[in-house]
Amino acid sequence: MSRFFSDKFSKLAPYTPGEQPKDLQYVKLNTNESPFPPPKSVVEAVCAEAAKAQLYSDPECSLLVEKAAETFGVKKTQLLFTNGSDEILNFAFMAFCDKSTPAVFADITYGFYKVFAELHGIAYKQIPLKADFSIDYRDYLGVNATTFIANPNAPTGISLPVSEIEEILKANPDHVVVIDEAYVDFGGESCVPLIEKYDNLLVTQTFSKSRSLAGARLGVGIACESLIADLNAIKYSTNPYNVNRMTMAAGYASLCEGAHFAKTCAVIEKNREYTAKKLAEMGFEVLPSKTNFLLAKSEQISGEELYQKLKARGVLVRHFSAERIKDYNRVSIGTLKQMDIFLENVRQILAEKEQ
Ligand code: PMP
Repeated sequence: MSRFFSDKFSKLAPYTPGEQPKDLQYVKLNTNESPFPPPKSVVEAVCAEAAKAQLYSDPECSLLVEKAAETFGVKKTQLLFTNGSDEILNFAFMAFCDKSTPAVFADITYGFYKVFAELHGIAYKQIPLKADFSIDYRDYLGVNATTFIANPNAPTGISLPVSEIEEILKANPDHVVVIDEAYVDFGGESCVPLIEKYDNLLVTQTFSKSRSLAGARLGVGIACESLIADLNAIKYSTNPYNVNRMTMAAGYASLCEGAHFAKTCAVIEKNREYTAKKLAEMGFEVLPSKTNFLLAKSEQISGEELYQKLKARGVLVRHFSAERIKDYNRVSIGTLKQMDIFLENVRQILAEKEQ
């Protein structure tokens, strides 16, 4: 830290992204990316747009917004595109929390919520998940705070029914409820249809997972017109050109590839169920996931040891040191071939332990 760094950030603990190793060709199952490259039409659209990179991008993302309004079945004024969904979440912390309005979120959830709260000096409360790692929606009724819920949750993978989220929305009419649907396309239930009914609901989604565009950085917020206007005020006060030309073109082309999207999501769901079954057969406890990852633990080996041993064998998964989940590892769902390599290595590591 330099002597110039603002005091207000001196205690900041920044978010730690998953490893992106450069040393080896790992079977990379640690950051919930899609194992499938984007379709050819998306790549072509990006290349065509790159030839116009001397021009600023459209700050209104007009074409993309028009296409997305059609895809999500909402009005154009109910959408805001951002540089990854991390950016819309950051905007939401800035727009809807302050000294008198703290944030609440689960104790085990997306680590960035805490970082954003600390970055902006927002007080926050963490509500413990139940013993089975599910959310008890009753804990969020009348909380007098801005609520952030990842649904399905990460890194647990567990999904909350929309009917329970509706109870939270009803019980907090004077506070915004942010539902982070980064993983909803893998079998979860979306709250988007509720935005017409609740003016306190903001849904965030990403193109990073189900649409194979993690490297392009594209997220979207979906809410009633007035919440989107608030978020736009933050966007135009920070970075009006937050979505670059190439990414905007990628997003548009991706939304035109509905069949490819449906097919790849279905493959991930199938590979997830296959992997969960094989892990359970090896004695793992596997949380019920509606995402493109699984959180699993074994009585035979600690989470840290399994993570290290897999890494030494060229298979990367994610281990978290937080007390409640330190016995687990989070495994992103890849191709069937990748999952077989992962499973075979786990099998060998457990067999070595038994000797
Ligand atoms: N929400 C959750 C729950 C996530 O796991 C992630 C991915 N790390 C994000 C939001 C942000 O994703 P992105 O910025 O790539 O859209």
